[in-house]
Amino acid sequence: MKTKGTKMSCSDQNEEVTDIDGGSPLLDVKPQAIIVWRNVVLMATLHGAAIYALLCLTWKCYLYTLLWASLLYWVGALGITAGAHRLWAHRSYKAKLPLRLLLAMFDCIAFQMDIYFWVREHRVHHRFSETNADPHNAKRGFFFSHVGWLLCRKHPDVIEKGSKVDLSDLMADPVIRYQRKYFLPLMLFFCFIMPTTIPTLWGESLWNAYFIAAILRYCLLMNSTWLVNSAAHLWGSKPYDRSINPVENALVSTLTGGEGWHNYHHTFPWDYRAGEFGWRINPTTMFIDLMAVLGQVTDRKTTSRESVKSRKLRTG
Ligand SMILES: [Zn+2]
Ligand SMILES: [Zn+2]
Repeated sequence: MKTKGTKMSCSDQNEEVTDIDGGSPLLDVKPQAIIVWRNVVLMATLHGAAIYALLCLTWKCYLYTLLWASLLYWVGALGITAGAHRLWAHRSYKAKLPLRLLLAMFDCIAFQMDIYFWVREHRVHHRFSETNADPHNAKRGFFFSHVGWLLCRKHPDVIEKGSKVDLSDLMADPVIRYQRKYFLPLMLFFCFIMPTTIPTLWGESLWNAYFIAAILRYCLLMNSTWLVNSAAHLWGSKPYDRSINPVENALVSTLTGGEGWHNYHHTFPWDYRAGEFGWRINPTTMFIDLMAVLGQVTDRKTTSRESVKSRKLRTG
């Protein structure tokens, strides 16, 4: 096997997309989906239960339970946005051990598989955007890039390229290693058991607490995150690079804590703000800045105004 280009990083997504071994360019042919029915049943059950919670339970539960579910939604979101995405996938800033532990716990609350898995899929997504090696290739349509990719077998290109992603930086972090090793009990506790039991402190029933603070909150955050892969690759403006699919989408940013400025993010993936305008609909950037004030964050990478301006003039 040739070794040329076998290591890749999230920051080189603007290079020509060719076979990682230096072979022929990846073909952009719409592939046949092989449905995994077990995942279809699980996802349908989750969404059915979330709709039941939304229609039948939210109006008769304690206000505190709704506030608790909202809190879990946003800390789970931070686990994905500030943790798995901006810290671990892109290395856009450095975090001290206490913050890394906190973000790994938040990531368990969100339960989008463990950080190692999430980062591998995301690095492949950036490197091979909108090709068959992109796990949620938006050229296969809204449904596929939103949730369909989780309901069918991975395209062979995703497996092949994913197996060659350099993840050595992750395995060097004990927080990632331990989260991966003990992910099942950690996920069950932080995503389902803890959210369900805490509301009993103010008299909520386990039934209501489970469906609202665990199931409904989990399902809503999953869908918000998926919108970054679907809506933010389809509908919006392209001020930074008109040659790529990712777009600027304020609604997605609102729902995800700042991850909808996706044309900027794919153009400047190393920037910890994941958007040009700092705190504008970007609570994740606020959180990282707050952690910097508290001494938990260092080495925040940004892009200079001049670089952004010249890139806009050249490719926007
Ligand atoms: Zn990214
Ligand atoms: Zn993307």
